[in-house]
Amino acid sequence: MSVNNRKYIVLLGVPGAGKGTQAQLLQDKLGLPQISTGDIFRYNLKNETELGLLAKSYMDKGDLVPDEVTIRMVEDRLQQDDCANGAIMDGFPRNLVQAEAFEKMAAPYGGVSVTPLVSIEDDVAIERITGRRTCRTCGAVYHIKFNPPKQADICDNDGGPLYQRDDDKAETVRNRLYVYYKQTAPLVGYYFAKALLVELDGARPISQVHEELLSLLR
Ligand code: ADP
Ligand code: ADP
Repeated sequence: MSVNNRKYIVLLGVPGAGKGTQAQLLQDKLGLPQISTGDIFRYNLKNETELGLLAKSYMDKGDLVPDEVTIRMVEDRLQQDDCANGAIMDGFPRNLVQAEAFEKMAAPYGGVSVTPLVSIEDDVAIERITGRRTCRTCGAVYHIKFNPPKQADICDNDGGPLYQRDDDKAETVRNRLYVYYKQTAPLVGYYFAKALLVELDGARPISQVHEELLSLLR
């Protein structure tokens, strides 16, 4: 039986670790799309779809959207043409149920390839999240101090307006970290046991983290 192998890269790390930033930089270099479940939920929220309205109550609190909905959404997304060679997963899987579901999705294509863990301390995560600004139209990510746009509040890519996500305000951020440690952190052990985990220091500048990721992925 011939296997049509695909590259499935799963980025792990606390909210604010830099997964989205790195996924955006990697997409072009690797020719693989970034699949950010958070971005897909936000897109649906903006367009007031049924999925968006359902996700909103969970996202507002910083809780996870139910697995059934999230898993089906990812299954659909992975069937699109741009995923024919694999994908860079950013924010999925986020618990063991999702990880096992993803395992099944990836199995016919050679399984999950590698799971880089971008490590930072919690206080750094909080500083990064509260200073994050996101483009309303293309989803590009900036930071008011560490990665500012060329012109204040305007996206470098498409000129869209930058905004602060509701769930990036201080009240919700602590619950998101709590949810991470309770539900997502077990994935580190899960992928370590499968010999897929590689850990990198996410506290360094964006370009350095990018270079290290590239060299370990090639
Ligand atoms: P995640 O997707 O893991 O939640 P993001 O990529 O959205 O993280 O990054 C969180 C915030 O931190 C953003 O404002 C981003 O601009 C900033 N950031 C990302 N990587 C770095 C880095 N290496 N150094 C400083 N700031 C960073
Ligand atoms: P961050 O990059 O800061 O970790 P995301 O954009 O990935 O944030 O996620 C924002 C919110 O979207 C989460 O707090 C959660 O409510 C929802 N979400 C994103 N991905 C998932 C997922 N895989 N499972 C359940 N909920 C998710």
